[in-house]
Amino acid sequence: MNSVTLLGTKGGPAIRPGTRMPTSILLQMDGMTILVDAGLGATRALCDAGVALTELDAIVITHLHSDHYLELGPLMHTAWTAGLARTVPLYGPSGLARYWHGFLNAMSFDVDLRLRDEGRPPLEPLLDVHLLEEGETRLGDLKMSAIRNEHPPIEDSFALRFEGTDKIVVLSGDTAPIPEMAPFALGADLLVHEAMLPAGIDALCARVGNGDDRLRIHLERSHTPAAEAGRIASEAGVKRLALNHLVPCDDPDFTETHWQEETAKTWAGPLFIGTDGMKIPLD
Ligand SMILES: [Zn+2]
Ligand SMILES: [Zn+2]
Repeated sequence: MNSVTLLGTKGGPAIRPGTRMPTSILLQMDGMTILVDAGLGATRALCDAGVALTELDAIVITHLHSDHYLELGPLMHTAWTAGLARTVPLYGPSGLARYWHGFLNAMSFDVDLRLRDEGRPPLEPLLDVHLLEEGETRLGDLKMSAIRNEHPPIEDSFALRFEGTDKIVVLSGDTAPIPEMAPFALGADLLVHEAMLPAGIDALCARVGNGDDRLRIHLERSHTPAAEAGRIASEAGVKRLALNHLVPCDDPDFTETHWQEETAKTWAGPLFIGTDGMKIPLD
């Protein structure tokens, strides 16, 4: 069965009592098990989704904001202690090799100890780091295409399209609305688009109240209002739309109804307002 599970649906790295977890998405398509982004909580969420950590076929990181890769090292270390015996290909922006080696260096006492004391295989070669660039990559029977999205000040930030034998999934990544997204998502069975709620942003900025407008300016030039995500989904003619990386997502004044009303302005098809652990079947 082909499905997408939204493991963590919160936009941004901070968590507080009762909040969702940052971003990671599980793709199960054509027998492949792929993790896209590895925000805090990804390891636990994979297990909760019924996926053994030793079953991962590939990991893709869309960009180097911490809410998308903070748990990459801990995930690989935990998979290693859970019996991972084969190399997992990793695709992501330049900088991930440095992260991986920095993580291994920080954990060297424990890793060296387990090599000697438990007879584990070396951890370092279990992750095979590839540079993610615009273009196409084969992942088993899947074709993964990447385009640069618009997420300033980060330049290496990507949207991803996965094409299997008969299903297509497109993930926007973190991005402002871009004209390239609708053609990129054309005919997808599912578009997972990041989204923010304009009224919630007003409340968020008022609450933070730090005297200037930098937070609002960052959000508005780097992220997508829910109604724009709906417009892109309509233009692309996708079969389903899921909103993900929700901002805000921990303000009790804004509920699922607000997200639905905002998105309904531009999108009339099946809509999923992401929650952590939400599994969306594609069949
Ligand atoms: Zn993010
Ligand atoms: Zn980001």
